[in-house]
Amino acid sequence: MNMEFADRVQRVEPSATLAISNLSSELEAEGIDVVDLSVGEPDFPTPENIVEAGKEAMDAGHTGYTSSNGILELREALAEKLTGQGIDADADEIIVTPGGKQGLYEAINTLIDDGDEVVLLDPAWVSYEAMVKLSGGSLNRVDLSPYDFQLEPGLDDLADAVSDDTELVIVNSPSNPTGAVYSDEALEGVRDLAVEHDFAVISDEIYERITYGVEPTSLGSLAGMEDRTITLNGFSKAFSMTGWRLGYIHAPQDLIDQAGKLHSHSVSCAVNFVQRAGLEALSERTDDSVVEMREAFRERRDMLADLFAEHGVDVPVGDGAFYMMIPVDDDDQTWCEEAIQEAHVATVPGSAFGAPGYARISYAASEERLREAVDRLVEGGFL
Ligand code: PMP
Repeated sequence: MNMEFADRVQRVEPSATLAISNLSSELEAEGIDVVDLSVGEPDFPTPENIVEAGKEAMDAGHTGYTSSNGILELREALAEKLTGQGIDADADEIIVTPGGKQGLYEAINTLIDDGDEVVLLDPAWVSYEAMVKLSGGSLNRVDLSPYDFQLEPGLDDLADAVSDDTELVIVNSPSNPTGAVYSDEALEGVRDLAVEHDFAVISDEIYERITYGVEPTSLGSLAGMEDRTITLNGFSKAFSMTGWRLGYIHAPQDLIDQAGKLHSHSVSCAVNFVQRAGLEALSERTDDSVVEMREAFRERRDMLADLFAEHGVDVPVGDGAFYMMIPVDDDDQTWCEEAIQEAHVATVPGSAFGAPGYARISYAASEERLREAVDRLVEGGFL
C-alpha cells in the first residue's frame, strides 16, 4: 500500500544529531575509537540514593498507573521547589511528564494553532523547531550569535521581531547549545515585551542546577509573568537521569487543564516508580552529588576554554549547562562530517540550532577524552 503520511510529520526533519550518531556508530563498528562530544547527557551514573529509591518503589509494588498528572507527593515537592524559586506554584498546576520533552510537546500543542507565531532565540535547541512545526505554528527566529549568544544585547532585535501577533516565545537559560545564562536585565526585557504584546513564554530551565558561579533567575518569578509563563524542567540533566524519563511543567491552571487532556490521552502518566525515585532526587540527600557533577563540569569547561585559547580559537564561554559553540567553517555541516570521519571527533553542526558556522561540543566527557578531542582536531587541521 502507498501510505499517505500526515503533512505535520513530513514538515519535520529527523534530529540532526542522529546523522552524527549514525556516522559515529558506523565508525565504531569498524573498530575506530571516536571521541563522541555530540551527546547531550551527563556522563555520570544516577546517584545511588535515587537508584535505591527506584528499586524500593518497585519492590513495594508501585508498578501501576498513577493519577495522570503525577503522584501528589511529587507534585507537592515540585510546587515547594518552584515556590523557593519565586514562582507561586500549587501542586494542581503541575503535570509530571515522561521527560521534559513531553512537557514541552504538551505545552506547545496546547497553545499553538496553525499559523500562530512562535519566536525562538537562536541558537536554539533542535526540538523547539520540530515541535513548533508539528503543531502547525510559524517560526520567527532572533539570532543571538552576533552577541556572543547573550540575550541582553539582543533585546532590541527581539523587540523588533515580536508583535501583537506573537503567541509564544521560548526562552532557554542556561542554554543548550551555548551554555549562556541570561541576566536578570535580559529576562526583565523579555517580561516587558511579553506584557506589552501579551504573549506567553515557555521558560526551559532544564539546566538550572548546572551553573557556574551564577544563580539563574526563573522567568516565571518576575512580576507580570505569573499568568503567562510555562516553566519546564526535568530530572535528566540535574540528576543524571536521562534514561529514567522524568520531567514536569508548571503553568497557569487553565493551561494545565487543557494540557492534561493531551497528557492523559497520550502517555497516561509518567512511570510510577520513577516518580518515586524523583521524589528522592529532590531531597537534600542528593545535593552533594549535584555539586560534585557541577564542579566536574566547571573544571572541564575551564580546561577546554584554556585549550581553545591556546590554539587561538575564541569561544564564547557560558556560565551554565555543558555545551560550547566553537566557531568553525561557514559550512559547519561539512566541517562536522569531516571532523568525525578524519579526526574521529563527533560534534553537532551549529546550523541544526539555527547557527551556521559553529559546532556544538558537549563537555559531558572526561578531561582525558576532551584533551584527546582537541589534540585530534588540532592535528587534523580543524582548529
Ligand atoms: N530542553 C533542553 C534545552 C534540552 O537540552 C533537553 C534534553 N536534550 C530537554 C529539554 C529535554 O530533556 P528530557 O526530555 O530528557 O527531560
